[in-house]
Amino acid sequence: MPERSLEKVRNIGIAAHIDAGKTTTTERILFYTGRVHKMGEVDEGAATMDWMAQEQERGITITSAVTYCEWAGHSINIIDTPGHVDFTAEVERSLRILDSVVVIFCAVGGVQPQSETVWRQTDKYRIPRLVYINKMDRVGADMERVIEQIGERLGAKAVPIQLPVGKEEKFAGVIDLIEEKMITYTDDLGEKMEEEDIPSDLLTKVKAKRKNLIEAIIENNDELMMKYLEGESLNKKEIKSGLREATLKVNLVPVLCGSSLKNKGVQLLLDAVCEYLPSPLDLPPVEGTDPQTQKGVKRYPRRDEPFSALAFKVVSDPHVGKLTFFRVYSGVLKSRSLVYNASSGKRERISRILRMHANHREDREEISAGGLGAAVGLKVTSTGDTLCEGEHPIILSAITFPETVISVAIEPKTKLDQDKMDSALSRLAEEDPTFKLHTEKETGEVIISGMGELHLEVIVDRMLREFKVGANVGKPQVVYKETVKKVAEGEGKYIRQTGGRGHYGHVFLRIEPGEKGSGFEFTSKIKGGAIPSQYISSIESGVREAKENGVLAGYPLVDIKVTLLDGSFHEEDSSDLAFKIAASLAFKKVASKANPVLLEPIMSVEVITPKDYMGDVIADLNSRRGKLKKIEPIIGVTQSIKALVPLAEMFGYATSLRSQTQGRATYTMEPWGYEEVEEEIK
Ligand code: GDP
Repeated sequence: MPERSLEKVRNIGIAAHIDAGKTTTTERILFYTGRVHKMGEVDEGAATMDWMAQEQERGITITSAVTYCEWAGHSINIIDTPGHVDFTAEVERSLRILDSVVVIFCAVGGVQPQSETVWRQTDKYRIPRLVYINKMDRVGADMERVIEQIGERLGAKAVPIQLPVGKEEKFAGVIDLIEEKMITYTDDLGEKMEEEDIPSDLLTKVKAKRKNLIEAIIENNDELMMKYLEGESLNKKEIKSGLREATLKVNLVPVLCGSSLKNKGVQLLLDAVCEYLPSPLDLPPVEGTDPQTQKGVKRYPRRDEPFSALAFKVVSDPHVGKLTFFRVYSGVLKSRSLVYNASSGKRERISRILRMHANHREDREEISAGGLGAAVGLKVTSTGDTLCEGEHPIILSAITFPETVISVAIEPKTKLDQDKMDSALSRLAEEDPTFKLHTEKETGEVIISGMGELHLEVIVDRMLREFKVGANVGKPQVVYKETVKKVAEGEGKYIRQTGGRGHYGHVFLRIEPGEKGSGFEFTSKIKGGAIPSQYISSIESGVREAKENGVLAGYPLVDIKVTLLDGSFHEEDSSDLAFKIAASLAFKKVASKANPVLLEPIMSVEVITPKDYMGDVIADLNSRRGKLKKIEPIIGVTQSIKALVPLAEMFGYATSLRSQTQGRATYTMEPWGYEEVEEEIK
């Protein structure tokens, strides 16, 4: 089958707060698009998208796999976005490669902190979106209130294009405000829909809502505005194209409603995805850099452009080995072809190209611009790498990931486990760039680090279960850092003269505090050949190595500036090694004089709680050295409390919050930055 024309392609993500119904809705989409014949109920842990065992147990979705389906002559790639805040980096990563997002809210719970985080991320990339208000069948469901919250809390102009028919358990379908029709469902599986005229008792409300919708649309379109102001009414086609235009510019967000669990509303959501969300052609060309010239390059989503693609996920698959998920931005990727990995500078062969459906995979001969797929056979490509034609190299802008803030030591039980663990961990690290792995030099201990307690828990769990590694796992530890607060100068010498050829290295350094977030900077001010230029890079590497083990407690030093001021050399005895050692000695000595301090990771925490527990929650956050940032009412008695809290104080917070609030509060957190540890805690 030839590829569908690009304008009929939709690359969408589905984002939601945990429990809003993302899994159920995705399931229903796959059912109605004819790909899954039996609905897997989430509650029984059989959901099609959640294919990893521990996801099923936890009921969360953490992978960014792509699933392909077809609807109304359109090809839809559903890019799975993770729901838990510990995986915010994964959400960002998947946002890079999708064109639009369906954001699901619960009609009862409304806008929750996690949905806010995702919303702000989609704002950052200006991604067009649709809102689907799910769970309209639940007691207390209130579409209008959720729309208000979207305006108030998220600052978006959300316009309903549907109205619910029937309330709570009597929820029966929707009124389509544009078509002016009532659509109700007549069977349990929601496959039969009936279209009727709008009942007379609802007519006034429908007219008013339709007028609001039209007025929101014309505000974004001068031509339609003129027509409307001259008293002409807009036809359905004009309303739809006007709404599409405003949605693509993210000036408006169309809102739909339904009950995925009761099989109502999902097909209409699919129609809206095709009608209002962008195809790859609606987006600006992708930008990157030519690695040879460092110049900016653009690639258009066309078959006749040179091939470029971004690898956005690597997973190890039990059947085919390593699977690399990619999005093609320009040109065509063919199976059995040779590609150039511009990020690593290596060539690789693609043996097969697969299109992933919910429950099977299909071999493809090729995937062209705008499409997504998975490649088999790539060996050196990892997440975030660009694949392209060797003759037309490009590096697409890299994906940024937050720093890791928490670590845990793992010790294999036997020699055999050691080997299994090494290969399991390096495979897991390939899949997930937010997860880091290193071996402590002194102790030989293997340390893994990540974005939060749950993130590490999932990784350890996969290692033990999926890769069957026998290992003892330590307690999670906070990843501290060090920096300096004063300027200091001093020298380091490494001079050995023992017959034959000796060693001679001598450097004079200055260390000073750098700007927050600047990391590390090295400059040389050597003039007149006090040290020959060939040794400068060895001095820099001596300093770089030394700064990895800070002078206070052995944590890496960050946000420092090091300047090489002076030194001396010996015609015969000087060597790279001697200068490297001298630099390292000088660094250690000077750093300890520069008032070194310990830095700890601070998390940005938001607790959503009923008013009654506010006092307890705040007192507890205070006792955890939290700094309150904002307290604001959400709806009714629900309050939001935002605070910055050191990660070291957040261990076991989930349990403690549950007992303080009888399980009625929820919280989310993500890394915010590093701050100096106060004196009395050290
Ligand atoms: P996710 O965490 O966003 O993926 O949410 P799930 O799809 O796992 O749904 C969370 C819970 O809400 C499950 O118990 C679902 O059965 C339930 N649920 C999902 N959609 C609806 C709905 O439309 N109505 C009601 N009443 N419950 C729903």
